[in-house]
Amino acid sequence: MIASTTLSNEKITGFAVWHLALPTVSRREHGIGPVEGTVEIVILELTSESGAKGYGEASPWSVFTGSVEACYAALDRYIRPHVVGSRICDVAAIMADARRAIVHCTEAKAALESALLDLAGRLAGVPVWALLGGKCRDTIALSCSLANPDFAADLALVERLRDDAVGIVKLKAGFRDHGFDLMRLETLRRDHPDLDIRVDFNQGLGAETAINRVRDIAALEPTFIEQPVAAHLYGLMADIRSQITVPLLADESVFGPEDMMRAVHEGICDGVSIKVMKAGGMRRAMTVAGMAEAVGLSAYGGDMFESGLAHLAGVHMIAATPAVTLGCEFYQARYYLREDILADPFPVVDGNVVVPDGPGLGIEPDLEKVRKYSVRHSLEQAA
Ligand SMILES: [Mg+2]
Repeated sequence: MIASTTLSNEKITGFAVWHLALPTVSRREHGIGPVEGTVEIVILELTSESGAKGYGEASPWSVFTGSVEACYAALDRYIRPHVVGSRICDVAAIMADARRAIVHCTEAKAALESALLDLAGRLAGVPVWALLGGKCRDTIALSCSLANPDFAADLALVERLRDDAVGIVKLKAGFRDHGFDLMRLETLRRDHPDLDIRVDFNQGLGAETAINRVRDIAALEPTFIEQPVAAHLYGLMADIRSQITVPLLADESVFGPEDMMRAVHEGICDGVSIKVMKAGGMRRAMTVAGMAEAVGLSAYGGDMFESGLAHLAGVHMIAATPAVTLGCEFYQARYYLREDILADPFPVVDGNVVVPDGPGLGIEPDLEKVRKYSVRHSLEQAA
């Protein structure tokens, strides 16, 4: 009685935003650009009238989704007025207001929805996955990406992954010559025949060479090949798909439900990488997954360069989405950041992410670490 009354009526009174720069362990290269030095994210903290807190993360990548500056401004300036004073449980209405308040900035909207559902879950005493419709799995197979230009370093990482029972890797390709990609894939195939190996070009191939290069990679039979060409080249994606037997996944070509509809209509892929940051929240990500499922396409749980807090939003989304069957890539908190910001370690056991069952997202950020890595912040409270 008390809890439900609180959740039904309680309002949001505090809205704090931090811009963080998190140091990383190595340089990584991708078809669309490198990541080196730090990963920059935005953290949102919502506070309720009774003092409860909810957290969300925006994880932009300037060459893929957008900039950290745009995310920070989207939350701090354009979305804040639609949130402070609103009822916590009015998630759908608040998210609709946020979408009307500012275009794009899907990562900022993902942070908002995460913080709302984390706060609602903590007040109701239930996990976020329960608010999304319930849990269809307790664990999610973890995939770790290999994107170090120093392949020897990546091979050492693979040994560590094997020790940790991680059975899936995704080889990032298309940032150097074709021979480098073939050599790495052949080496992994030969030395680790039981690994589930996927290949992701991150749009790295030019239109004139893409089909031949993808055909050569497909001959080595990775589990799937992801986004070989630029996001907008739907026709070329469809052509490539028609010439290989390995499944072709769309990533950068499909952000939200609108893109998914076009991708299905034009037949550009056999599956899709579902990301909370691309879709603009967990619920829209679930819509994309449902659309893929309805036409027989597979779905993979992708991510951006994230801390464990954004990983948790993805975990709860996948926990509540039966259609996401190809595992997840929530590896940065454990294998790429020098230090994650969660108060407890992001849960990975025997190569699987374990779905938290505690209230809200299940793990809170460590605010000492948030302050430690803060570049700037805005802590305005409602009057
Ligand atoms: Mg990708």
